[in-house]
Amino acid sequence: MALEMASFHEKNLASTPIRDLGLTIEGTRLEPIVDEFKKELERAGIQRLRPRFYLSTEWGVAFDTVAIGIPFYLARPDLTQLHAERHGHVEGFSPGDILRYMRHEMGHVIEYGYRLYDDSEWVNLFGSITQPYVEEFRPAPFSRRYVRHLPGWYAQKHPDEDWAETFAVWMTPGVDWKSEYADRPAALAKLNYCDRTMSRLHETDPLVTSSEPDEEVSQLSYSLDQFYRDTTVEDEYPVGLDGALKAIFEDLGVPEDTTSTAPRLPASALIRRLERALMANVYRWTGHFPERTRILVRHLAERAEKLNQVYPADREVPATVALTTLVTGLAMNHVHRGSYLP
Ligand SMILES: [Zn+2]
Repeated sequence: MALEMASFHEKNLASTPIRDLGLTIEGTRLEPIVDEFKKELERAGIQRLRPRFYLSTEWGVAFDTVAIGIPFYLARPDLTQLHAERHGHVEGFSPGDILRYMRHEMGHVIEYGYRLYDDSEWVNLFGSITQPYVEEFRPAPFSRRYVRHLPGWYAQKHPDEDWAETFAVWMTPGVDWKSEYADRPAALAKLNYCDRTMSRLHETDPLVTSSEPDEEVSQLSYSLDQFYRDTTVEDEYPVGLDGALKAIFEDLGVPEDTTSTAPRLPASALIRRLERALMANVYRWTGHFPERTRILVRHLAERAEKLNQVYPADREVPATVALTTLVTGLAMNHVHRGSYLP
């Protein structure tokens, strides 16, 4: 009965227009996090620019506004869970992670509020805001010219994001950016600029005060089912993946690892179990989008199942490392060449 009720509830939840779900920041788990962030702003000496917070479809600050959109699915744990299942990747869940995103978005608020992009020094350091915004950017992992804050080498996406990430590092409590970036002069110059600019703006009223929201949750007439439709991307798989899987795992009934007599377990189950962690970590270190990794991992799991691949139960760690390295190698190809096939 309880189960029936749950699925009945879920069915209704997914087909209800999002605006009718009654989602707010107030009274939810987000409220104390927003309060905590406001205290951080005070401690950072940001007094004249007070951002507005609202629920939207994703993290973001619309151009020429000082309002921070927070993904609506973070307001309720059941919606976060649904997002993880349908989309596969959640941007911030723990309070610490959500604060990281808020600091990044606050960078945009400062940039737009004070029109920093018009400052010639800003343009020299970060680039022109008119630079095209390329969704499929190709980051150089560990580049010394950028700070590192959000996963996926996000500062390398666009001058806007470079600034927002720099600002976020600058405002993170407890981060000693002067010593942390002492060996990276280009990134340090950006942080120093941010530091000087923030002391200068300390007592200055912002030029822009509009807090017009974009895709505010109370305006979303579509349902969660509609929201999560079409989030999959089509990809071309490299030929020869079967061989890679066979190199990592064993054929059922043909033990290769003679050092282990442990029972053999299906490789496909292990691959599926690693899906979520691979999505997050491969994105963090390569910039390869989690939704693409998910498709790749599911494809590998299907192939491993078809090929009856197994591994010794006491060799899970080496199997995990091998699979992770394979997925990372393919992801790096995609990041640098735009496809898994070079
Ligand atoms: Zn951003």
